[in-house]
Amino acid sequence: MIVILKHDPNREQLESLINWLQEKGIAIHTSIGEAHTILGLVGDTSKLDIDLIAALDIVEDVKRVQEPYKNANRKFHPEDTVIPVGNTQIGGGTLTIMAGPCSVESEEQVVAIAKAVKASGATMLRGGAFKPRTSPYAFQGLGAKGLEYLKIARQETGLPIVTELMDLSQLPLFKDVDVIQIGARNMQNFDLLKAVGHQDRPVMIKRGMSATYEEWLMSAEYVMSGGNENVILCERGIRTFEHYTRNTLDLAAIPVLRRLTHLPVIIDPSHATGKNWLVEPMAMGAVATGADGLQIEVHNDPAHALCDGPQSLKPEDFDPLAKKLLALHKAVKSLEG
Ligand code: PEP
Ligand code: MN
Repeated sequence: MIVILKHDPNREQLESLINWLQEKGIAIHTSIGEAHTILGLVGDTSKLDIDLIAALDIVEDVKRVQEPYKNANRKFHPEDTVIPVGNTQIGGGTLTIMAGPCSVESEEQVVAIAKAVKASGATMLRGGAFKPRTSPYAFQGLGAKGLEYLKIARQETGLPIVTELMDLSQLPLFKDVDVIQIGARNMQNFDLLKAVGHQDRPVMIKRGMSATYEEWLMSAEYVMSGGNENVILCERGIRTFEHYTRNTLDLAAIPVLRRLTHLPVIIDPSHATGKNWLVEPMAMGAVATGADGLQIEVHNDPAHALCDGPQSLKPEDFDPLAKKLLALHKAVKSLEG
């Protein structure tokens, strides 16, 4: 971090700033120029409050040269993180395909979909039991019952389950869930992030609708700083001026995150586009760009789905797509050598 001081700073205030930084274990390199004095801060500056320093009378400007996230940072953890989940893993060269309905609607529905997607090559079952809906009048999910049905589907198929946790009070019900999903709307629910950081289930954090990469990685940092290193990031489209699609899929997130972090990256082309016919091209693009996996909504009767029917694939359309994705992934890996 670099602190640029105002011209002729008050000596007492400067000494007190330097003492305060040194007490925090930061070494200071001072460079005195004609107009300004610059302090180069060396050490772990991730815990320093940049705004607090910038607000001091003697400070002209503060610039970070190091990212504020440490646990999630590739610089301090060059190897890709691989997360074991049930009989499979996320990251480490495998293509994870999470598929299933937006919402669990009944035991029969979720078991039938689970069987179909497994037969097509899916490696995990997705399905919401607690649903974040824009309207309070819309279907809110089956709650605890929905989780029970997901577990039955897991038992019937062997597919590990990924499902959304919306509120702290629900956490005791998620002990046995394979991957806890934190939805886009909760990406900056810091109490929720802290709580899932203090338990041992892997956590998939979906990108907030208007979140920057750094904000998203700081959410991962919340979970990891609590002791849970098993974090997965899921790009699900961001809000832009374009309304033709539900959101705008940011495929650049894959190579950018690959550079910034060691955590696995999943792409959700369903929520990113809102249209079933856009799921295939975006999913193929994601695999070609190096994603570690996909999360795809599949429904046995999209026209009557209680949530997100227009973006859901029928099992018979998911089947050829899953096969194409696995073939493309193999080809991409062979090109990487
Ligand atoms: C979901 O996956 O069901 C969901 C609500 O996604 P998002 O949080 O990305 O909107
Ligand atoms: Mn959905």
